[in-house]
Amino acid sequence: MRVDELIAKRKRPLFSVELWPPRSPASEERLLHALGELSHYTLDFASITYGAGGSTREFTHELVVNLHRNFGLVPVAHLVTAAHTRADLEYILARYVGEGIENLLALRGDPPLDAPSGLAAGELKNAVDLARLATESYGMCVGVAAHPEGHPDSKSYSVDMDFLAAKLEVADFAITQFFYTAEQFFRLRDELDRRGVVKPVIPGIMAPTSLSTLKRMAELSGTSIPERISTRLARFEDDPASFVAEGTQIAIELAAEVLEGEAVGIHVYTMNRAETTIAIYRSLFGDGN
Ligand code: FAD
Repeated sequence: MRVDELIAKRKRPLFSVELWPPRSPASEERLLHALGELSHYTLDFASITYGAGGSTREFTHELVVNLHRNFGLVPVAHLVTAAHTRADLEYILARYVGEGIENLLALRGDPPLDAPSGLAAGELKNAVDLARLATESYGMCVGVAAHPEGHPDSKSYSVDMDFLAAKLEVADFAITQFFYTAEQFFRLRDELDRRGVVKPVIPGIMAPTSLSTLKRMAELSGTSIPERISTRLARFEDDPASFVAEGTQIAIELAAEVLEGEAVGIHVYTMNRAETTIAIYRSLFGDGN
């Protein structure tokens, strides 16, 4: 099933998740446990990340195909231009299509700091180039990343919105980076509206589970943590269980706010753990399937 069709035919807001491909037997066990727990709930699709520099190439492929064949889940395979030549990307896409995988999240990834700035003729640089290749040559349904505060590398917020609008002329939908202020999501949607873009944007929701992880991920992605959020979380810095409970509550409130504002669904950054994801699900839709 294509994600654009799922969005068009939805009877309730979509609920989807992001998973990481496991790289060790222990992390595989954790993921399988999470998938078992999540199987009691209706997940519209699961997106599977791709390691920077291509480090999870085979792990990502295996998990995508496994979810499709054995778990009855609709997978969305992440892929990044920064890691590969055009020929490699074509090989990876052709393999997916051969396995019946219909959905891709086309990303640039983060090129290593010492990467040469110029690219050989024909190589793909930005996410839009991969989105074009996957839609035009492989007939895939393609999503792209949207950055509610603007991408950290971009010259300005407005320039980034122009590039996002151009990506969405090619792609079918977008998923946002995580954020903690609903107005940032609504503003991004308004900016796209103004540019005549009608493609759906799914807000990405991440429940903070520890202060160190939150700070690291916020720094990497250029996400700001509003003071009202850090104050709420700081009270539980030395109490991990209560920190997770408060972080989950923050995510629940944010999810409710964006859905109130007619988001087509929410995409939960699960960190391969089921508990917070299920708590968010239940707060929105009640118990189980
Ligand atoms: P692009 O859309 O290519 O944008 C990158 C920068 O270039 C921006 O500043 C943009 O304004 C500018 N730009 C865009 N188009 C053009 C153009 N045509 N010409 C000139 N400049 C342009 N990273 C991973 O490594 N693996 C993952 O699995 C992964 N999953 C992600 C999932 C989501 C939902 C999100 C939001 C991010 C994810 N990332 C992942 C992180 C992502 O790779 C980084 O944010 C990266 O820095 C930018 O990727 P992008 O696809 O937005 O790039």
